[in-house]
Amino acid sequence: MSIAFVTGLGGQDGSYLAERLLADDVEVHALAHEAEPEPDAPGVVMHTGDLTRIDEVRALVLDLAPDEVYNLAAISSVAQSWAEPELTARVNGLAAGALMESARQAQEKHGKPVRFVQASSAEIFGEPDTSPQDESTAIRPLNPYGAAKAYAHLMVDVHRRRGLHAVSAILYNHESPRRPARFVTRKITSTVAAIVQGRADRLVLGNLEARRDWGWAPDYVDAMVRAARADDARDYVVATGVGHSVREFVAAAFGHVGIDDWSAYVATDPDLVRPADPTDLTGDPTRARTSLGWSPTVGFEELVGLMVDADLGD
Ligand code: GDP
Repeated sequence: MSIAFVTGLGGQDGSYLAERLLADDVEVHALAHEAEPEPDAPGVVMHTGDLTRIDEVRALVLDLAPDEVYNLAAISSVAQSWAEPELTARVNGLAAGALMESARQAQEKHGKPVRFVQASSAEIFGEPDTSPQDESTAIRPLNPYGAAKAYAHLMVDVHRRRGLHAVSAILYNHESPRRPARFVTRKITSTVAAIVQGRADRLVLGNLEARRDWGWAPDYVDAMVRAARADDARDYVVATGVGHSVREFVAAAFGHVGIDDWSAYVATDPDLVRPADPTDLTGDPTRARTSLGWSPTVGFEELVGLMVDADLGD
C-alpha cells in the first residue's frame, strides 16, 4: 500500500484529494493546522502541527516515509496576502521549499523514491504579456501571494535537479461548492441563491471586468495525481484554456435561476477592487493534455450551475 502525505487537507482541494487517494487505496496522512478545527476526513490519519515549524514537519516526513507528498497548504487568498505578506511568504514560500527538502531527505533515508507535487498558481505569471499562458511564460508576480508561490515554484526545479521527482502544478482558478465565499465565484453563487430565497437583496463586487480561467476543482486534483505518477517530473499548467469575466460569471449565475436582467441586484464597491490584480489569466493546458491524458470534465456554464444549485440546496 502506498503512503501519501498531504498538507492543506482542510481546504477545498485537500478534501477532494483525500477522497481521491483513499479511493485509490492509498494510506493518507495529513498535516492538520493546529489553529483550525480538525477537518472531518474519515479514513485520513491526522497529524496536528504547523507547516512553518520546519523541524517538526521534517521529523514527521522522515518518520512516515511517504511515496507521495502533496503540498496544498497555503494562505490561499490574494486579498489576504496583501494584509499578511510576511505570513504569506513564510507559508507559501519558505515552508514549501523546506517540505521539498524534507521529501528529498526521506527519499535518501529510506532509499525509495518520493513524488512531490507543489500546488502552484497562475498568479506566478502576474500580468502576462501573452494569453493563454503556458509552462514557458515569464514568472513575474504582481502580489505577495504570487511572489511567495513563485519562490516555491522555482524551488521545485531546484530539488528536481537534485534528484527529487518534484512537479509544480500551475493551477488556474478552480472552484466547487466547497470553495469559501471569500472567493468571487462562491460569493456570487451563494449571494444569488440568497437573493432567490429572499435572504439577501444585493450582490456587491469589485472589478467585474477581471478575467479568470475557472475550472472544476476535482479535475485539478486529478491532474495533480496524474502529474505525481507520471514517468517524467515536469511542470504542468492546469487550466481549461477558456477565460471568462467576473461579469460573465454573474450573468451565468443569475441566468441559471431565470433572472436575465440582473443589473438591479448588483453593485460595485471600489474598496473591493484590488491594488494590483491580473486582469486576464487564461492557461494553455496542452502539455497536461498530451503528457498526462488530462482534460477538464466540467465546462463553465455547468460549473456555475453546479455551484448555484448546491447553494440553493443549503
Ligand atoms: P483569485 O484569482 O485567486 O484572486 O480568486 P478570487 O475569486 O478571489 O478573485 C478572482 C477575480 O475576481 C479577481 O480579479 C478579483 O479582483 C475579482 N473580484 C471582483 N469582485 C470580487 C469580490 O467581491 N471578491 C473577490 N474575492 N474577488 C472579486
